[in-house]
Amino acid sequence: MKWSHLLGVLVLGLLALLSQSSFVAADSNSGGCAACTLVVGLVEQIAMVKNVDISSAVKNICTNLAPSNSQLSGLCALALSGWLPAMNKDFAAGYSPDYTCKYSLGMCKEFSCNLFKTWPPKHITDLKNPLSRKLLSLDDSREIFEEMGKILGLNVQLPVVDHKPLVDLDGDLYSTMAKLRGSDWRGKDCNDSNANVYPGRAIDTVGPKQDHNCNGIKGVAVDGQSYEEKFCAKSQQRGVLILGDSATAHFSLPPTWMTAATMNNQTFTNLLPVLTNEADYPMCSWATGHTNDTAQCPESKLPMTSIYLKLRERNLCNHRDFQNIGVNGASTKNMQPPNGVIVSMHNRNVTDQPSLMFYALIGNDVCNRRHNFDSMTTPAEFEANTLNSLRYLDERVAPGSHLTFVGLVDGRVLYESMYDQIHPIGTTYADFYDFLNCLETSPCWGWMNSDESVRNKTTERAMQLNDVYTKIIKEHKFKNFDMDYVFADMKEAIAGWVAQGGHPADLIEKTDGFHPSQTANSILAEKIWQYLETTHPDWLGPVNPNNAAIQALFGDQGGH
Ligand code: CA
Ligand code: CA
Repeated sequence: MKWSHLLGVLVLGLLALLSQSSFVAADSNSGGCAACTLVVGLVEQIAMVKNVDISSAVKNICTNLAPSNSQLSGLCALALSGWLPAMNKDFAAGYSPDYTCKYSLGMCKEFSCNLFKTWPPKHITDLKNPLSRKLLSLDDSREIFEEMGKILGLNVQLPVVDHKPLVDLDGDLYSTMAKLRGSDWRGKDCNDSNANVYPGRAIDTVGPKQDHNCNGIKGVAVDGQSYEEKFCAKSQQRGVLILGDSATAHFSLPPTWMTAATMNNQTFTNLLPVLTNEADYPMCSWATGHTNDTAQCPESKLPMTSIYLKLRERNLCNHRDFQNIGVNGASTKNMQPPNGVIVSMHNRNVTDQPSLMFYALIGNDVCNRRHNFDSMTTPAEFEANTLNSLRYLDERVAPGSHLTFVGLVDGRVLYESMYDQIHPIGTTYADFYDFLNCLETSPCWGWMNSDESVRNKTTERAMQLNDVYTKIIKEHKFKNFDMDYVFADMKEAIAGWVAQGGHPADLIEKTDGFHPSQTANSILAEKIWQYLETTHPDWLGPVNPNNAAIQALFGDQGGH
């Protein structure tokens, strides 16, 4: 499964940041088709909800997209302007976006695939009656074309990210900047000109007056002892390191981006932060969530919490010691060395504190767009890939570390929870999933599928792969860490949530119908923490009796 691809389909297509031609080239047309259908669907719904013509609807989206950036909104209008005449004609005639993208725009070659079984969607007809369809005004379209002219020649490039911080002057892989793989992902660097100063550092090479490990504790007490020595030396410090996929990084696309009824000039204010974090929210995730500004997080029905926050609360000396090495689309195959995601982690050794590690590749070994089971990872491949990463890890973590495998989920809960719910674009999830499959552009054919036997067989393979973890734990020993395995039982989590009065769909991301939601992240953090606290309290270290003294002297320890 390649999340950058669906990201392209849903976001870059929707926002038209890329020209249509480069979009199509990226994925032999099916991505272009899905993008076209979603974008045309959104434009026409805006036109209906706001009672404006198609041209104004395009302007509305593009202006809301970048209210303070006329170049960006102009680029958006430019990308959509070529579709205006066809959209206008079909809109007036009442043809669906599926029809427009197939027959009028030629963006869809798979004539049998349809997203909108009825058009307009019911949630729009419920809102407005009778529906208005305004025809394109020539003045409006002239204005858009003038705007286009101003920005012709403009070259917009999104930053290319290799999963390492973009801003990192001393090369220790910790950054002073939040986005672009910076401190949202790994504890903030407190000295970006010394590669021996970073979160989790054990050996002090700069003296007690400086903060050698960025935990906000520094200086010398009146008795001559350094505060680091006094408060932390016997505290058994440790940090969180998670290697994983888009669920680890906490992938989420704001559903408001696809909701015609509520779109306004605030809808896209989060565009830049979202894109510069790869549409991920590591600072709100179950393993490394830490922000105290939860307005930065996707909507939730529970307070944000994480393994890192709990580990920090237990021992304030652990402040800022976390690394989120989660990458959208990661599987055991593309995690492994020598060229996989794992090489972007900060290597630790005896100069550093031990790590509480998680290896959480919970779906991509069975999830991809292809319609067969042969493209899924086999147990033998899974074992070889994982061992390869473990051997690499053993050379790069401090002694006394611990590793928890978080197994593949039973993704059948997705369809069971979502099929009859309404996607923000106005169709049921069953229709949304089928449409993506029909175009062979789904992130997970095996589970986002209306065929129950396919879903069952996918789960069967996922459980076979989970058995490999048990086998590895039984057959292998590593010098720097021990291992355990947990199964993140989403079915049980959902049952617990429903028993509290919640709905299963609360635990799944609305826009993609695939990822664990912010609410699910909080539940996952609680469950995995409880498991470790019960089974391996020594893995978490003792509660630091100096916490109150640390807080009194150092306050928020410099924040995150
Ligand atoms: Ca640095
Ligand atoms: Ca310190």
